[in-house]
Amino acid sequence: MIRFDFTGKVVLVTGSSRGIGASTLAGFARAGAVCVLHYWADPAGENKADAEKLAKELGPNVHLESADVRDAGEVEALMNRVKATLGGLDILVNNAGIIRDRTLKKMTLDEWHAVIQTNLTGVFHCCKYGAEILRDGGRIVSISSIAGILGFHGQTNYAAAKAGVIGITRVLAKELARRRITVNAIAPGVIQTKMLGEVKPDVQAEYLKQIPMGRLGRPEDIANAILFLASDESDYITGHVLPVTGGWL
Ligand code: NDP
Repeated sequence: MIRFDFTGKVVLVTGSSRGIGASTLAGFARAGAVCVLHYWADPAGENKADAEKLAKELGPNVHLESADVRDAGEVEALMNRVKATLGGLDILVNNAGIIRDRTLKKMTLDEWHAVIQTNLTGVFHCCKYGAEILRDGGRIVSISSIAGILGFHGQTNYAAAKAGVIGITRVLAKELARRRITVNAIAPGVIQTKMLGEVKPDVQAEYLKQIPMGRLGRPEDIANAILFLASDESDYITGHVLPVTGGWL
């Protein structure tokens, strides 16, 4: 069994206030990393309290940062703060994401743009400004989805964005190889988080029938795969998309 050791590594996980991101950040923190817990303080403000609570639970090596990944200026400023405070970055995990499911006929342009801006342009912003502060030999792991490979009913916006993340991953694996930075993606199946609460129960039941392992995924199932792709042990793996789906593909 691999026991991960990230002592001294600086890790930024976008959208790590809850769900897959929070589980991933907790895994890095337990393995000794210096962690940046990132969230976006929306006007309602409750996310800030959640993020602060989690940061406190995870201990002194966790630094709290807020930025809207849709906004290039906010992401650039975030990366500049990480560089100034922590000296640079070793691992960037692009996890922040949303869903706004609706069939093509009913999908509004706002719903299209919201998902593309967050799930695709957000990843572009984080890679663009994150790569500037990533040290040579660093890691980028982005969260795509099997929706971006298989395509699910009602998800033109989400599937397009997640397929785009795979495209970004394949290109950056080539562009950043000379700096020994590996770039990979995870394609989760159906994972029990707050996001899944936005999917109707009958649709969830249909998803469950497709999963050979007979259960929905847990955030830590994805976190473990991210930690592997971020570790020194995955040094020669780049440009890959790893489905973590309980066998659904
Ligand atoms: P959650 O809804 O639980 O968490 C999403 C995270 O993204 C939150 O921390 C949220 O932060 C953050 N976020 C949303 N919008 C923005 C923004 N504009 N700027 C910065 N942060 C933002 O989702 P999951 O944990 O379920 O999903 C995590 C990732 O995994 C997503 O990319 C998702 O698409 C992907 N995925 C999830 C699957 C699932 O079944 N759950 C399946 C396949 C992929 P806050 O609310 O604090 O602003």
